[in-house]
Amino acid sequence: MVRYVHDFTEGGREQADLLGGKGANLAEMTRIGLPVPPGFTVITEACRAYLATGTEPGGLRRELAEHLAALEEATGRRLGDPDDPLLVSVRSGARYSMPGMMETILDIGLNDRSVAGLAKTSGHEEFAWDSYRRLVQMFGTTVMGIDGALFADALARRPDPAERPRLVAEFLAIVRERTGEEFPQDPAEQLRRAVRAVFESWNGERARLYRRREHIPDDLGTAVNVQVMVFGNLGPDSGTGVAFTRDPATGRQGIYGDYLPDAQGEDVVSGVRNAVPLQELQEHHPECHTQLCGHMATLERHYRDLCDIEFTVERGKLWMLQTRVGKRTAEAAFRIAVQLVDEGLIDWPEALDRVTGDQLARLMFPRFDTASAGAPLATGVPASPGAAVGTVVFDSAEAVRRAAAGEQVVLVRPETTPDDLPGMVAAQAVLTSRGGKTSHAAVVARGMGRVCVCGAESLGIDVAARRFTVTGPDGTVTEVAEGTEVSVDGSAGTVHLGALPLVGSPVMRYFETGERESGLVDAVARLMEHADAARRMAVRANADTPEDAARARRFGAQGIGLCRTEHMFLGERRRLVEAMILARTDSERERALAALLPPQREDFTALLAAMDGLPVTIRLLDPPLHEFLPDHTGLAVRVASAEAAGGEPDPHDVRLLRTVERMHEHNPMLGLRGVRLGLLVPGLIALQVRAVAEAVAGRLADGGDPRVEIMVPLVDTAAELRLVRQEVEAVLAEVSEQVGRALTCPIGTMIELPRAALTADRIADRADFFSLGTNDLTQTTWGMSRDDVEASFFSAYLERGIFEVSPFETIDRQGVGRLVRIAVAEGRAARPGLKIGVCGEHGGDPDSVHFFHEAELDYVSCSPFRVPVARLEAARAAL
Ligand code: ADP
Ligand code: MG
Ligand code: MG
Repeated sequence: MVRYVHDFTEGGREQADLLGGKGANLAEMTRIGLPVPPGFTVITEACRAYLATGTEPGGLRRELAEHLAALEEATGRRLGDPDDPLLVSVRSGARYSMPGMMETILDIGLNDRSVAGLAKTSGHEEFAWDSYRRLVQMFGTTVMGIDGALFADALARRPDPAERPRLVAEFLAIVRERTGEEFPQDPAEQLRRAVRAVFESWNGERARLYRRREHIPDDLGTAVNVQVMVFGNLGPDSGTGVAFTRDPATGRQGIYGDYLPDAQGEDVVSGVRNAVPLQELQEHHPECHTQLCGHMATLERHYRDLCDIEFTVERGKLWMLQTRVGKRTAEAAFRIAVQLVDEGLIDWPEALDRVTGDQLARLMFPRFDTASAGAPLATGVPASPGAAVGTVVFDSAEAVRRAAAGEQVVLVRPETTPDDLPGMVAAQAVLTSRGGKTSHAAVVARGMGRVCVCGAESLGIDVAARRFTVTGPDGTVTEVAEGTEVSVDGSAGTVHLGALPLVGSPVMRYFETGERESGLVDAVARLMEHADAARRMAVRANADTPEDAARARRFGAQGIGLCRTEHMFLGERRRLVEAMILARTDSERERALAALLPPQREDFTALLAAMDGLPVTIRLLDPPLHEFLPDHTGLAVRVASAEAAGGEPDPHDVRLLRTVERMHEHNPMLGLRGVRLGLLVPGLIALQVRAVAEAVAGRLADGGDPRVEIMVPLVDTAAELRLVRQEVEAVLAEVSEQVGRALTCPIGTMIELPRAALTADRIADRADFFSLGTNDLTQTTWGMSRDDVEASFFSAYLERGIFEVSPFETIDRQGVGRLVRIAVAEGRAARPGLKIGVCGEHGGDPDSVHFFHEAELDYVSCSPFRVPVARLEAARAAL
């Protein structure tokens, strides 16, 4: 038999699933001897049963009556007693705190007769009638579903406290008119219906929305706490307040809170009256204040964490009504965790458990001081956090030109493509009118630590005219021309005209310079040292340039997990790639490849120097070649208009156009790319391997310690890898011969297609390491092209709860994760000790890092700016 009702004296904080958070903590405070008004908790299972069947589960009614009788016995008062009534509150309290989302009803037990008893025992007539007024109002709205405005209007028309009995009569009449029934005079019925209303509030619209946003499951249900009322509204020697054991905004030590004399709980929260700082309690009731400080110290020592509390003073006597481990800002989280270690309350592993990678990421970005800012000009998706100020530019070239002259710019595009990369690098922020959190702009910007707001749909961008317009909600049109200064808030997703004042991030400066300039930075630094000692997985960075590599190293990266060589084929070198693609003969192609060799070798040399002594995984060219060719439409227009003008189009253009048409792919994600490219374009693999090998040889000759690993992308079958391996080894041997020194390196593969994961044992025969490419693996497993689904149906899927989060942000454990586990198991079965890492975007995502730890990967690789986050989360996963 389930027992649906538990007394506060029976439980404890470990029972939050059963009793809800509030009930468990009320029981805990009771257990440690703090002054908590007595009461009992109806367990969450009763709520689930009620919601499933629409009726109270059998036995609940009897149990409620029994516990109420015990409460009456203990207090010596009876609910509804006309001489000396007991009053109770009925309080919701779910497993996870949902502040203000659900219902609480106070002063249950008052009716036409007991109100007189309360007036007599309290010696306070107005208080008694005001309490009855509150009950009818709360019960009327939450239990009986009456529009709250009716009560509020009546109250506004008759505010005089002396007229409360008249007002109550009006309230009772409202109930009668609106529902056709009388306000229930039977206190037992009040209690039963209030409990049921709290159950039902679990499925209220506010509560459901809140749960979706906070990822709280919908099927937990809420507990209900029934508690003896204490009164903060009994005059000037009474009051109510909320307090924190430390400052939840900064982590500063010392208690903190608000107090409202002569008031009941909701008055503080609803802000009808201005609360005063806790110090005033100290002045007016020094004993209460001392007691409160004592209780808070007890709670902090007991919970070993920042607690927030709700309390009430009834005629000089202090009562504790609620406590929980309090929410806090990122800064407070880091500072408090370290303070608690220093105070001997927790150890380092627990401190690591108290902070998160997301909080660390937030501490690394500069922020706007938004207090002084007006309404934003436009709002979009907060894709990459941080704050940036710059002048608006509309194309990559202009961004590069102005940035080179020392100007800070914001690149504004309808959307971005790989062509915009130089401009994105040059800009402080990227702003687009199309695309979501995983659009090109967003992914690339996050990777680079650039601020990005995307999908700001109210922007009408006219690239040719070099301006955008924004139509405000009231129809006013603002025009913003190139060169106008704007502020982009990537954390809020907003754009403001002009320069908002900035607050820099000392934590970012710490990672850049190692300097510990403040208490916060010192806390972060000490936690990071312990994180590095605690984690099992290594953390590498995805980096393509020496600058990125050097930064990654400063941020604690232990190597490069992914160097995308395609970035070495852009810019000036695009011409050389174009020549290679257009080559008609072997010798034309060889000439083109030969021209690409020296610049690539120089790139690799610099990269290896920056990562000297650490592994550097170089991926062979991956994207389809048409990405290196000009856009089809522009080219076709150029050729056509030359013809229309009666002239001869440029023969180079014509040849390019034909090639572009031939190479066009409808779904480039699944076409000629990755290893397929290397196998089909003669000399392409050899060029890259030669550039790598010569760079290695050069570094060795200079006394360096290059540790290169060559990685083959988009492998489907062991047969592909076998062929590539032959070619790579042949080139390595050739260069070894030339430099007179044996050059070998591990040759591994990406596992980024389902087939590769499913045949990992065979592939492992040919691979020295695996790197899980979870971006492509997610696309191919779900059959969703990231670039296409974002704009079309992603938001609908998120809204309808089909996705809880985007599988491109956080690894899908059930599907993609299963393939990962298969690849790991089969790969290591075929080749014991096989080194396996991950180099998708997921490598820097906290949740995914935990999964990769569980899946026993050796390392994660992520963008340089995410390296500290991954270090911290890898440690937290290992706790
Ligand atoms: P929430 O979960 O929204 O904070 P609570 O259950 O804490 O709702 O109730 C809101 C307020 O009502 C409390 O902060 C407290 O001030 C007041 N309250 C609840 N129960 C009692 C009680 N037994 N005696 C006095 N005040 C109470
Ligand atoms: Mg509360
Ligand atoms: Mg890939």
